[in-house]
Amino acid sequence: MTKKEVCAILEEIAMLLELSGENPFKARSYVNVAREIEKNESDLEVLVREGRLREIKGVGDALEQKIEELVTSGSLAYHHELRAKYPKTLFDLFRIPGLGAKKIKVLHEDLNIKSLDELEQACNGTVAALKGFGEKTEKKILEGIAYARQNQGLHLIHKAKAEAEKLLEWLSEDKAVIRIELAGSLRRRKEVIKDIDIVASSKKPEALMKRFIEAPNVERVTGHGDTKSSVVLQSGIAADLRVVTDEEFPFALHHFTGSKEHNVAMRQRAKDRDLKMNEYGVFRGDTLVPCEDETSIFKLLDLPYIQPELREDMGELELKETPRLIERDDLIGMIHCHSTYSDGKATIEQMARGAIDRKYAYIVLSDHSQTAAYAGGLVPAAVMKQHREIDALNATLKRFRIVKSIESDIRADGSLDYEEDVLKSFELIIASVHSGLNMNEADATKRVLKAVENPYTSILGHMTGRLLLMREGYPLETDKIVDACVLNRVAIEINADPRRLDMDWRHVKRARDKGAMFSIGPDAHSVEGMDNMQYGVGIARKGWLGPEHIINCMTLEQLFAWRKGK
Ligand SMILES: [Zn+2]
Ligand SMILES: [Zn+2]
Repeated sequence: MTKKEVCAILEEIAMLLELSGENPFKARSYVNVAREIEKNESDLEVLVREGRLREIKGVGDALEQKIEELVTSGSLAYHHELRAKYPKTLFDLFRIPGLGAKKIKVLHEDLNIKSLDELEQACNGTVAALKGFGEKTEKKILEGIAYARQNQGLHLIHKAKAEAEKLLEWLSEDKAVIRIELAGSLRRRKEVIKDIDIVASSKKPEALMKRFIEAPNVERVTGHGDTKSSVVLQSGIAADLRVVTDEEFPFALHHFTGSKEHNVAMRQRAKDRDLKMNEYGVFRGDTLVPCEDETSIFKLLDLPYIQPELREDMGELELKETPRLIERDDLIGMIHCHSTYSDGKATIEQMARGAIDRKYAYIVLSDHSQTAAYAGGLVPAAVMKQHREIDALNATLKRFRIVKSIESDIRADGSLDYEEDVLKSFELIIASVHSGLNMNEADATKRVLKAVENPYTSILGHMTGRLLLMREGYPLETDKIVDACVLNRVAIEINADPRRLDMDWRHVKRARDKGAMFSIGPDAHSVEGMDNMQYGVGIARKGWLGPEHIINCMTLEQLFAWRKGK
């Protein structure tokens, strides 16, 4: 079990304890230990083997045993017991934004609510009448139920990707595989994923079907046919495998990559050319037109190769040539990283080394600003100290630069979070909203506009504040913000944290066409967090961006020159 998985279970135990009305300090202790484990640099397995778990702050007898059980056996009886006390459907209530264990406990105990449906029915004044709820809360809950329903069965991309890669590796080991690829929304690099689609070609489909349903991360089999099988993985993500002949493979891969809208448009285009297209092939009359790969399919329909990310029926069938989209290796700089100065887990030096290991030429260090006290935001004295440390490090690092930056909170009135003499000391400033997220569109737009117009702002961070599958962003007049960013030479961030991926790719292309520039930021709070860059690259590609649209594809000199308007 990985550290992350162990921590997720400890946090779930805390939630279950709160739900059962246990002493809140007890619940808290699980959360605290999870935090400490994350911070600890040693491998958990090593700590268990050497009997050193108690070195972790907060770990006593009871937790030592539990962590040991988790690490060695991969599950924990205590956790299962706690879970078994509640109907499974009750846990869906946790997906309602703003509804925590305390309130869910009341709903469950006082109204015997066990599911989203039952809660919805009770939102007829019954919930409002509960002590501590009221009409406003009831209305919020109703909105939250709609949001939770909309997101039901969706998963964040990094989770789905990790699972899909395990499956692909497992299947690829089988000699019966001729070709195999990931399809569906994961291949299109969408921000959230419904299920994992894999397409393979083989002469022995039954053998592959069998191997698929026996994969180590399969929880249950929901369908087992000759050429298609479906499973649900331990993580709750559904996965499908389709096996076709090698001749059919490119057509099946294209079809199951989607999107539906793209496929509809492609079929119409085929029709216009007296061809018929489906998942098995493109046919002239009844005869298959052989295509060895997807490029040949597109060519048959007088199209250049269209990258999977673009297949959303957003103008890709008008392309005359394959666009040059940004790739990971185009990135020169790592923008938007946190360190131990605020809420990051690694020191500035460790972060810099992490960026060097990943072949970057500079890192833009943007810790939180003073208003974000909950995240260890930097008071002016800490800023000065950090700048001295950066100067010292820069003096020792060869061919690498740490850039003095800050992720300044955008305060409620739209101002940045320091006086001018401090603002002046940064080389780049990312401006982000972190609090007061309940704004109407007019207020939010005004607030963000003011920050964009501030001459010290260089990048607008995670534009809408959304947390995918958890919280909708505040409403914004996107066009107005984009226009201001273009006018003020402020780059729009594509926040690469898989929980954010904000700005939404659906707006990126339009912003690009208005002349906007973008910054891809991992918002890394640890060295591994830098690897989130890949998800930002995916979203940039979905927004039709090439390296020329992205400021971290510039050298530092070019970047500063761009800011100055040269
Ligand atoms: Zn932020
Ligand atoms: Zn950040």
